[in-house]
Amino acid sequence: MTVSRGREFLSIPGPTTVPDEVLNAMHRPAIDIYSGDLPAITERCLGGLRQVLRTEGSVFIYVANGHGAWEAAVTNVLSKGDRILVLESGRFAIGWGEMAAVLGVEIERLPGGWRRAVDPAALEEHLRADGAGRIKAVLVVQVDTASGVVNDIPAIRRAMDAAGHPALLMVDAIASLAIMPFEMDAWGIDVTVAAPQKGLMTPPGLGFVAAGEKAMAVHREAGLRTHYWDWTARSGPMHYQKYCGTPPEHLLFGLQRALDLLLEEGLENAFRRHRLLAGAARRAVEVWRQGGAFDFNIVEPAARSNSVTTVLMEEGRDPAPLLAFLSGNCGVVLGIGIGELNGKAFRIAHMGHVNAPMILGVLGAIETGLVALGVPHGKGGAQAAINWLGSELAAR
Ligand SMILES: *Cc1c(COP(=O)(O)O)cnc(C)c1O
Repeated sequence: MTVSRGREFLSIPGPTTVPDEVLNAMHRPAIDIYSGDLPAITERCLGGLRQVLRTEGSVFIYVANGHGAWEAAVTNVLSKGDRILVLESGRFAIGWGEMAAVLGVEIERLPGGWRRAVDPAALEEHLRADGAGRIKAVLVVQVDTASGVVNDIPAIRRAMDAAGHPALLMVDAIASLAIMPFEMDAWGIDVTVAAPQKGLMTPPGLGFVAAGEKAMAVHREAGLRTHYWDWTARSGPMHYQKYCGTPPEHLLFGLQRALDLLLEEGLENAFRRHRLLAGAARRAVEVWRQGGAFDFNIVEPAARSNSVTTVLMEEGRDPAPLLAFLSGNCGVVLGIGIGELNGKAFRIAHMGHVNAPMILGVLGAIETGLVALGVPHGKGGAQAAINWLGSELAAR
């Protein structure tokens, strides 16, 4: 017996739900790539991205995904044999570093494990030990979608400054942009990597890279540059050069609409909405975890992200039956554990085009699954989410 008809709730940490307005904006014929509306659409997308990234720097749009944007970022500022420092807090900065290693960059890792945020003091100490300045760049994610952690980027910048270290600060904001505050220029970030399919509510297929002045200067000497990713080639006078070929027209139609929706809502309101809905999910998990079958993956409450909550099962308990029950019987698709957490965790995404019934519905379905499968859990998690959301909304 199932109760799965109706709209499916895709609750994975990307791709996220695409608003109907964005889907509708994409539903149109292809247009000329040499004249007409397209150059203006590109400018609107770039302008919107600059507003969301909070930067006056250069923004590049690639026909790629986040991994493509990672490679674009690395090849534009580094040379073979350069050394970089990767800050571990889950899967994604490590993956970015591994990509750079294949290109001939030497990797140092600041170990941090999978259950906590990057420690700025450990970073400062590591950089102080590099008096010769061999480390050319520091790579970090703002939100790691595998572990569910949020890193304190301003504190990481302060640690680099305190160590007096000249390395570039390169930040992956793929799973945090439009979800929580991000201030590329004010926080002294040199290179930002982003993608459309998380907080930006647009189908996958694009990668974004933003570069500040210092990164653009370093770029001139970078030895790993290739024509497709190259910032200089993409800064040429012809519109098609911005994409090194045919622009991804329909994704741009969608992106423009999504950026409009976001800026209409207001970034501050979007951040607050995410904080409230993520808070509701955390209230539910806080109650359920008292049954002992699972716990928050991220130990420190303040380091749990507003994008995704990663739930770690107790030793030997497989999350697969719960995920299968939810997708097969309830029309809810949760994220699986990835990397080190494969087979050990599940992930509740609460980012992008989400509202109260979507998140409360997901939480209610999870609690239904816990009951149906006899997974030990504290009772009333969904009720706790409702109580918290109600009191937060009443307070304003
Ligand atoms: C999703 C994600 C990526 C990878 O993006 P793809 O588009 O799948 O290549 C990288 N970093 C973070 C933090 C992500 O959440």
